[in-house]
Amino acid sequence: MSAYEPSAVETQDVAEVGDVSPVETSAQVESCDVCIVGAGLAGINALFVASRYLSRDQKVILVDRRERVGGMWVDTYPYVRLHQPHPMFTAGNIKWTLGQKPSYLATKGEVLGHFEHCLNEIKRRVRVDEFFGWTLESHDETGGMVRITCRSAAGQVRVVEAKRLIKAVGLRVEPNEPLEFSSARVQSVSPDYCDMRGGDIGASDTPVWVVGGGKTGMDTAHALITEYPGREVNLVAGSGTMFASRDRFYPSGARRWWGGTRLNKVASEMSRRYDGTNETEVAKWFRAKYGTWLTPETGNFLLGVLSESENKTIAAGLNDVIMDHVVDAVDRNGATELVFRSGATKSIQPGSWVVNCTGYLVRRDQDHDYEPYVSRSGAVVSIQPRSATLHLTSFMGYFMTHLLFLDKIHDLPLYELDMQDLRAKSQTALPYAMFSLAQHNLSLISDSVPTKVFLDCGLDLERWYPLPRRLVGTTQFLLTHRREREHQRKTLDTVRERFDVRCGPLLDASR
Ligand SMILES: Cc1cc2nc3c(=O)[nH]c(=O)nc-3n(C[C@H](O)[C@H](O)[C@H](O)COP(=O)(O)OP(=O)(O)OC[C@H]3O[C@@H](n4cnc5c(N)ncnc54)[C@H](O)[C@@H]3O)c2cc1C
Repeated sequence: MSAYEPSAVETQDVAEVGDVSPVETSAQVESCDVCIVGAGLAGINALFVASRYLSRDQKVILVDRRERVGGMWVDTYPYVRLHQPHPMFTAGNIKWTLGQKPSYLATKGEVLGHFEHCLNEIKRRVRVDEFFGWTLESHDETGGMVRITCRSAAGQVRVVEAKRLIKAVGLRVEPNEPLEFSSARVQSVSPDYCDMRGGDIGASDTPVWVVGGGKTGMDTAHALITEYPGREVNLVAGSGTMFASRDRFYPSGARRWWGGTRLNKVASEMSRRYDGTNETEVAKWFRAKYGTWLTPETGNFLLGVLSESENKTIAAGLNDVIMDHVVDAVDRNGATELVFRSGATKSIQPGSWVVNCTGYLVRRDQDHDYEPYVSRSGAVVSIQPRSATLHLTSFMGYFMTHLLFLDKIHDLPLYELDMQDLRAKSQTALPYAMFSLAQHNLSLISDSVPTKVFLDCGLDLERWYPLPRRLVGTTQFLLTHRREREHQRKTLDTVRERFDVRCGPLLDASR
């Protein structure tokens, strides 16, 4: 555990720093014990953990270029619903105050409300100064301190000096723009700027083409079908998407005592089956036992969750499902046509709406540069997909911050995986490699942190189930995780060799 003295002088003006804009004359310098960049789910978990190690008079500076806490949820589409059980979408062990059943799908407003609640709860334990509207530009480590340079949209510069920096910048999810088309007769919109449940799209009765078969496509189709029964809604589903069936993982009511399958059980079975070469076979197994989908092909699995009833509603309400990728819409010979990657075309009604649901997670303009998950000095932790240590950024924010404060982050031979590169090389292998990674690293972590670290981890989806079932799971994990680690290590080594991706312990991987 670390305890430092707060800086005597916390704010001062100094001469101009670095390469600043012409409007800049001086940069404010602030000091703190920990600086966290990113106020999304990963950052708020890092903050929760930091607050457990710091005392009331120590200070955290929380930086985000958005204007409030919440990360990507701040500006994602308004009808988004949290597809996982909301109680486990939290910071550490902070409880929701919504008063809804665990199976309730939280809305965007409710998710943002919970972020606010988490921040307020954390502030009861440690001082948090919010630098919202500030973008991290650079950082460097000198003399045992990390110097962090941030800039506001107006060009002002602020410098933060911290003993530790946690960069929880996430997957760089940004609003999607409407697709650009040659046709002047289609109404191209993005869900992030056009709410399906009203406005011009609600007032019109022309057909809607939802482009993209992932989580956003499903939310959008569901919103349209339920809001406007009888309206023509079509889906262009790319290579198709598989979802984990909510009914199988999260049975509701009394069935939680005996029904469904614990996600952790499936994760360990999945990593037992996966050997780094057989992703197609494992995908088939997962799909048959736990998957749900509405497209005839199901190329992608991005850990999305969908219930059988949502799936049925969407399938019954769709007019046409096309397995292809839209490349343009054109007006020719008096008709309007969608043009697909395969070369095929489809005549559509002029005035049709085309909604860009092509996804947030795979845009090349959002690629991250490689950075190890922890710097050589151990003062900077970086949570992003190029050096992933666990399957989700929220878990990384939680566990990596514990390891940081326990001074163990350099001691464990954790594997890091370049998820961005692996996704580009094999979408099929990615989810199974991610679970092998998570099982391997959680096994190492569980051997080296106090039990309370796991007890306080409210992110654990195992909490869906009553305590006796969870205890069975914990006992199984404790009995088997060490001997399974060797298989997971071999699997990850095979993934590295086969796909030529960064995947291995930090020292091997980053030098
Ligand atoms: C449509 C959609 C629905 C989803 N639904 C679910 C769901 O139901 N359940 C689930 O578990 N996951 C869901 N996800 C995944 C979701 O991305 C994660 O759950 C989680 O919210 C990501 O948190 P994060 O902190 O890693 O990233 P983010 O939420 O993206 O937060 C990162 C923050 O870092 C800030 N930042 C980045 N770079 C800088 C910089 N240089 N300077 C300052 N600030 C910076 C960003 O502004 C951002 O606020 C969904 C994703 C999408 C796109």
